Amino acid sequence: MNSYRPDTLKEALNIRADISAKPFAGGTDLMVRYRAKNGMPPTVPGPVLFVDGIPELRGITLSDGNLDIGAAVPLAVVADDPGDRTAFAESVESAGSAVGSVVAEALAAIPEVLRAAAADLGAPALRQRATMAGNLANASPAGDTVAALYALEAQVVLASVNGERILSVSEFITGPGRTLLADNELITAIRIPSPLPGWGYWRKVGTRRANALTKVSAAASARLEAGSITGFSMAFGAVGPVIIRVPAADSLLLGKTASDLEGPAAEGLVQAMAVAAAPHITPIDDQRSTAKYRKTVALNLIGEVVSSLASHLKENQL
Ligand SMILES: Cc1cc2nc3c(=O)[nH]c(=O)nc-3n(C[C@H](O)[C@H](O)[C@H](O)COP(=O)(O)OP(=O)(O)OC[C@H]3O[C@@H](n4cnc5c(N)ncnc54)[C@H](O)[C@@H]3O)c2cc1C
Repeated sequence: MNSYRPDTLKEALNIRADISAKPFAGGTDLMVRYRAKNGMPPTVPGPVLFVDGIPELRGITLSDGNLDIGAAVPLAVVADDPGDRTAFAESVESAGSAVGSVVAEALAAIPEVLRAAAADLGAPALRQRATMAGNLANASPAGDTVAALYALEAQVVLASVNGERILSVSEFITGPGRTLLADNELITAIRIPSPLPGWGYWRKVGTRRANALTKVSAAASARLEAGSITGFSMAFGAVGPVIIRVPAADSLLLGKTASDLEGPAAEGLVQAMAVAAAPHITPIDDQRSTAKYRKTVALNLIGEVVSSLASHLKENQL
């Protein structure tokens, strides 16, 4: 196997342009996909481009309210696993690319829905290697950080020798395992656009806490102003060929306040959201779960989302 370990993004993009070598970040999907039998090393077809050591992909910045998380930042950092953010800020500072306090500020801005989704992905050792860029490029409808990124209406920053382009995650992923990544491109960062949300929700339904396959997941985020919901988006994982968003259901929460999310009014709202969402929730039976279970749980989670948002508004007297 021919492999390349470039020291700079420019070098990596030249290799992509010349021979389209396969990007390899944490390898936690690729090592499984290309595993060989009888203890032999995995056999990735074609040349491999290791991207985990490229300094330009290991940054995290907060600029004009936009949060950019580098494509090679390990998920342990996003998940805030014990000690990992501190070690990461120190390593970025010692590499001379940014001061630790600036990195710490950007790390603190990671929205809770994304942190929680990352913390539910795999297990701590896996998160030391795995990346969000890998989760996105793998484009599984059950990808945990992918669902959170849909709820955040995040963007993918792509680069090639010809320049940069930015796509929304929902444009980037075109089907199960399919994306708009061109043969000469790399994901350089994931961008959470400004304004960052004031509230988030994450729920993964699996059989156990760690290394669980996602039967169904739900992610949501909201922007709140003067006690009212000014932005809301919910995303469902593992209930369709891609992560599912239902803007018609989301919009029912706009303008609502804490009192609208209590009692019979809230029940009516949850019911209306479920009616709007139901036709779009089209799961399948597979080894992880049944279509019927997935659909029932996904629709029930709408109630949990609304009650969690109501509690947040009340507790914070918004
Ligand atoms: C034991 C185990 C448990 C798991 N648990 C979960 C789970 O709970 N939830 C979940 O969602 N996933 C899970 N996964 C899947 C996997 O860990 C994730 O999808 C992970 O985020 C992949 O990241 P990676 O960096 O390892 O990707 P890699 O394996 O390195 O790459 C995956 C894909 O992304 C592409 N890629 C990587 N970086 C770039 C880049 N910068 N630009 C362009 N393309 C790129 C690669 O070419 C490849 O196509 C699990 C895997 C294992 C082995």
